Amino acid sequence: MTPILEAIDLTRTFQEGSITTAVLKGLSLIVPDHQLTAIIGKSGSGKSTLLHILGTLDTPTSGQLLFKGKDMLKLSDKAKAQLRAQHLGFIYQFHHLLMDFTALENVALPLRIAKLPVNTAQRRAAEYLEKVGLKDKMNFRPAELSGGQRQRVAIARALCPQPDLILADEPTGNLDEENAATIFALFADLVRSEQRAVVMVTHDLALAQRCDHIFSLENGSGHFLTR
Ligand code: ADP
Ligand code: MG
Repeated sequence: MTPILEAIDLTRTFQEGSITTAVLKGLSLIVPDHQLTAIIGKSGSGKSTLLHILGTLDTPTSGQLLFKGKDMLKLSDKAKAQLRAQHLGFIYQFHHLLMDFTALENVALPLRIAKLPVNTAQRRAAEYLEKVGLKDKMNFRPAELSGGQRQRVAIARALCPQPDLILADEPTGNLDEENAATIFALFADLVRSEQRAVVMVTHDLALAQRCDHIFSLENGSGHFLTR
């Protein structure tokens, strides 16, 4: 099976004044389709940088990025944005919810942008809020929710458009153990029963161990751990 994503010899250098920081130095990574892949690595090792590049939110200094075999770096910005909206779901460390919108409106927003009728969008949003255990908080605004609940709203928002690939940066980092377990179970279910792929950056080794693959990022490069 064609991997959902393949990164080949990626480099990413940040230039700030006279200071150059090489974060990725020839990193290659194959993300298998329909599987859960964990990315682990020390703080500052470049995990978020890599995830942004994998999602076309950042451009590598050099290297190749293939999505289902297609070269993504050759696409126009507009085509990249379209690909992201149609195929990718992002979950960030910090939630980025719209504070004036209710949980339901936040989750429905990507579907509204994709031009689904409001009733359909809200029905699907409600379904995903229920999946993350927030059925009774649908009409709450982010300010009325706890940090963990906001994160779960953000997760529902990312999953609701049913993306092929979910890219998650420490998605359970600010959740308690029970909520983290709920979210992991949801990811596992998406992969097993809906044939999605998930790439998850995590500090939590126990969680990484439950993924199908663990990619360890070190010194600007990385490798899969064998087990
Ligand atoms: P991680 O997510 O593993 O903690 P990051 O990818 O956030 O690591 O950062 C890796 C390194 O890249 C850090 O040294 C960070 O300071 C640097 N870095 C990340 N983004 C930028 C940026 N936009 N400009 C300059 N340096 C950056
Ligand atoms: Mg990070």
